[in-house]
Amino acid sequence: MLIDTHCHFDVEEFDADRDAVVARTLAAGVDTVVVPGYVAAHWPRLFEVCARYAAPRLLPVPGLHPCYIAGHEEAHLAELERLLAAHPEVVAVGEIGLDHFPLELKEPALQRKQEVFFREQLQIAARAGKPVLLHVRKAHAEVLRVLRETRFRDGGIVHAWSGGIEEARHYVRLGFHLGIGGPLTYDQSRRLRAVVAAMPLEALVLETDAPDMTPQPHRAPGPERTRNSPEFLPAVAAALAALRNVTVEEVVAVTRRESLKALRLVA
Ligand SMILES: [Zn+2]
Repeated sequence: MLIDTHCHFDVEEFDADRDAVVARTLAAGVDTVVVPGYVAAHWPRLFEVCARYAAPRLLPVPGLHPCYIAGHEEAHLAELERLLAAHPEVVAVGEIGLDHFPLELKEPALQRKQEVFFREQLQIAARAGKPVLLHVRKAHAEVLRVLRETRFRDGGIVHAWSGGIEEARHYVRLGFHLGIGGPLTYDQSRRLRAVVAAMPLEALVLETDAPDMTPQPHRAPGPERTRNSPEFLPAVAAALAALRNVTVEEVVAVTRRESLKALRLVA
């Protein structure tokens, strides 16, 4: 069975038909879905949605996302630490990191605040002995520097991998796996495919990043965005198998084993 290591299944876009999506996801061969947090205000809903279903198992991962940095407060960090203490079953902290891509995040004060919250959350994760889900855009050098400076040793997953081969190897040396999703199926993702082809299969895990990043085979024709869904994860597995010239069964087996390892889960 497949593991979706990154899916925003708690968002409103799934409110109308979440039960049906859950049933189709399980039928598609996905038995575990990791649901990362992004703002403190939504952590209660994150835990509530994840507790609602037994299969596939939904794993809540609370954290403060770098793109929402303007709204994060010091008090949210203390709340995160309390949440981890109250829920020892939580497998990781995320999604956390640095994002220097959007215009509104290029402001130096916001970038400094991103780094403060990233460092603090790495330390919270380290104190709890948990891996992290990283969100990194246009900031790999900075994230690698912070990981080095904080001596973070608990690893995790760099979600929606978008970097180069040297950066990929660097993260793997630090104990991270790379999250591979829908962009692997896009025509324009030549560099991504080259990096994914060059890395050991053991370095990779699968994700949908739903409701965004819909795999090509499930995108409706035309400019309108099609909602991505954890039930579409097999399209990512198939694209990875084709790129690596291995069977889908091998991709399923290896990425499952590696996802469990990255999140220190038992099967
Ligand atoms: Zn995300």
